[in-house]
Amino acid sequence: MSFLFIFVTDFLKKTMLRIIKYIFFSFSLTILLNSCKDSKEYRIDPAFTDYLQRFENEAANRGHNFNPHSTGLIIEFASLSNSTAGLTNYETPIRIEIDQTYWNDIAGSAGADMMKEELIFHELGHGLLGRSHLNTTLSNGDWKSIMCGGTKVGDRAWNINYRGVRRKYYVDELFDENTTAPEVASLTLAVDSTGFTQKSLLTFSGTGDTGNFLNKNSSQLGVSLENGRLMLQNKTSNPLFILTALSTPISINSDFSYELGFYYPTTNNATNQYGLIFGHINSSSSGLSDSIEYFSINNNQKMYMGNNEYYSYFTELTESSIVLGTMNKLKVQKIGTFLYYFINNSYCYMNEINASADINQVGFSVPELSTIYIDNFKVSQRTASAVNQQKINQNQFLDIRIQQVNKSFQHILKNK
Ligand SMILES: [Zn+2]
Repeated sequence: MSFLFIFVTDFLKKTMLRIIKYIFFSFSLTILLNSCKDSKEYRIDPAFTDYLQRFENEAANRGHNFNPHSTGLIIEFASLSNSTAGLTNYETPIRIEIDQTYWNDIAGSAGADMMKEELIFHELGHGLLGRSHLNTTLSNGDWKSIMCGGTKVGDRAWNINYRGVRRKYYVDELFDENTTAPEVASLTLAVDSTGFTQKSLLTFSGTGDTGNFLNKNSSQLGVSLENGRLMLQNKTSNPLFILTALSTPISINSDFSYELGFYYPTTNNATNQYGLIFGHINSSSSGLSDSIEYFSINNNQKMYMGNNEYYSYFTELTESSIVLGTMNKLKVQKIGTFLYYFINNSYCYMNEINASADINQVGFSVPELSTIYIDNFKVSQRTASAVNQQKINQNQFLDIRIQQVNKSFQHILKNK
């Protein structure tokens, strides 16, 4: 009996010990596993450290004190699906993923630094400022915030003109949603259009008023004069850039204006863009490696502006001043360091000019497999006095170059 008692007691003791050991082991394991997932982990891929530092500086300038080094933050490359450029995971710590392909794709373009900053600031807006998407617009159609993203609005591209004077506004708005709209967002700007003198003009009133365009009939381009307008038929499956040299380049330091009327019949693809192009083209180059500014519209009443060295257009705007089934006059006016865009004499938009060399070529783009009509090709320059006026001479339009372009400089921007 006493033997049995001793045996049972011993058995219970051993079992209890096993249970205690097991509990202790499990507890230790839990501690070990938890310590692997450091809630204050700080791991930033070197590609992003500069942009994070800029964010911290901008925050500090506005009285915010973030110290992700001690509170934890992860920004890493990932392979994101569904056309996503960046993704913020609300974990502890916040974990931001940036699509490696997108990051590499934009790297080689002009303006890549601002595009990268805008993407990282957007994600940090989610992760550190707790902001969600905001897809409203300013009065000129610009996105109101760099927090635009998520569910598309009217299928509008996410392109945001995060450059120049707009950058300060967008950073202010990121930290304070109640920031006043910038002056550039106004549609009632007083644009001083006085003092511009005609420098070159073609009205296509007769064969002697067509520059050298009629001689450019070729297998890729049909050219003819029709009812006082020049008809151009692009027979290729790529857009054409048609540029003509100015006999005297326009100094980049001067104010100038370039305008042209376009009629693009609605039987064409409504998403095809057509419009003004201009820039400094080196005579030895094939053309497209040079910096070319563009201002284009389509028959969906959209307007685009940009430079072919950039990854994509600066932004996409809806413009009711575009009238279908008739001529639309596009005009761009360079005043100081800004370009002012007009459609049918209505002021639409302004932004910094990208070109830094004298403008020696102006022209227009013709969409692929399309016929377009142009009229009133006019270049003007602001002159200090009448003495500087140049005689209008159609011989100024002798040197014409025609270039097939692909649309790779107008990429679709990924969501964020
Ligand atoms: Zn977002």
